Amino acid sequence: MTDIKDIQQRAAGYYDAYLADLERIVNIDSGTFDRDGVNEAGQFLQDILTDLGFEITLHPNTELGDNFVATLKGNGTRKLMLLGHFDTVYPAGTTTERPFTIRDGKAYGPASMDMKGGMVLACYALKILRDLGFEDFAEITFVANADEEIGSPSSRKLIESEASRMDAVFVFEPGRAAGGVLATRKGVGMFELAVHGVAAHAGASPQDGRSANLEMAHKIIKLHDLNDFEIGTTVSANQMHGGERRNVIADYAHCGVDVRVVTGDEGDRVTQAINEIAEGQVVPDTRTVLTGGINRPPMEKVPGTEALLGLSKTIVDGLGREYVELNSGGGSDGNFTAAVGTPTLDGLGPEGQNAHNAETEYVVLDSITDRIALTTALLIDCPAKP
Ligand SMILES: [Zn+2]
Repeated sequence: MTDIKDIQQRAAGYYDAYLADLERIVNIDSGTFDRDGVNEAGQFLQDILTDLGFEITLHPNTELGDNFVATLKGNGTRKLMLLGHFDTVYPAGTTTERPFTIRDGKAYGPASMDMKGGMVLACYALKILRDLGFEDFAEITFVANADEEIGSPSSRKLIESEASRMDAVFVFEPGRAAGGVLATRKGVGMFELAVHGVAAHAGASPQDGRSANLEMAHKIIKLHDLNDFEIGTTVSANQMHGGERRNVIADYAHCGVDVRVVTGDEGDRVTQAINEIAEGQVVPDTRTVLTGGINRPPMEKVPGTEALLGLSKTIVDGLGREYVELNSGGGSDGNFTAAVGTPTLDGLGPEGQNAHNAETEYVVLDSITDRIALTTALLIDCPAKP
C-alpha cells in the first residue's frame, strides 16, 4: 500500500502551483462553439502534459475544437485512462466579465468546477507520479474532449475505442463531496414527438378538425405513466407547444421528452414503450412523428468497479476524509466508458458547486490537496481489469 501521508504532503506542496494554473486556464474562454478558445485551452493542457513526457495525438475538428489524446509509456502492465473535457457552456467574453477570483475559501470562475478544476487536478497527480519516479504501468492515456457540453458528438467514438482497451478509467468531472466518488450515473434519453392534425374553425365547424393538442394530451398522460421512481426511471414531457390561435382547432403539436434510466434494459423497455405511444392514436386522422432516443447509456457497475470503489474508500479513509459513494441523475463521458465494460470512477475533480452558472460556480479550496492525493494513489494502486 502506498504511503498516503507522503502523497498528501507532496500534493500540498503543489497547492499554489495548482491554483496558478487553474487561474490561467479558467481565464481562457472555451465555450464549445468557440473553436479558437477551445484550442487555446487544449494547448494549455498539452503543454503541461508534454513537459511530463506525454506524447500528444491531435484529433482535429473543422468547426469545433480539436480533441486530443496524451500518452505516457511505463514499464508495467496496466493501462490507465484519464478522461475529461475542456470545453465549457460559456460564450466568449464571459471570463472578462467574471474572471477567476478567490474569496471565502473558494475559487470562483466560469468552468472552475465543470471541469477545468478536474483537468488541472489530473495533471498535478501526474506530476507527483513523475516526482516519485513511478512507472508501474504499460501506459497512462489522457483523453481530452472538446465537445462534452453538447453531448460529445465528435469525441464519443474516440472515447469508446480508447476505453475499451483499458484496465480502468478515471473521470475528473466535479466532486460533489470532499471524499466523494461516483460509479453510477443514469442514462439520458432525449425524445421529440410531433403530432399533425387538421385545422378547422373552432366555432363554425369544429367537427371537421382533428386536434393535435388533444392527441398530444393523451400521449403525455401515457408517457408520464412510464415513471417508476422506485427503480429510478423518469419520463417527463417538459417542453410543449401546440396550436397558433384560440379559435382554430390545432393542426400541430410538439413535445420534448426527457428520459432517465438506471439500466440499459430499462432504457430499451422505455424506448419501446415510447414508440408504442407514438404509434397509438386516439384522435382519428392524426399522424405522429417520433425522433430521438437514448443519447448516453447508463453508467453501471461492471466487474472491477467494486474493487475501484473499495480502493477509493481505503485512500479516502487514509486521507482523514469521510468517504461518500455518490450517484448522479446527470450523464458524463464516463457513461460511454462504463458501457464498453471498463471499470470507471467519476467525480474525481475538486469539490465545488453551481456548474453552468458563470456568476456562482466555484471550487472548494480545502478539497484540492486531498483530491490530488486521491487520484495519485488511485493510479498507483488501481488493480488490473478482472
Ligand atoms: Zn462537465
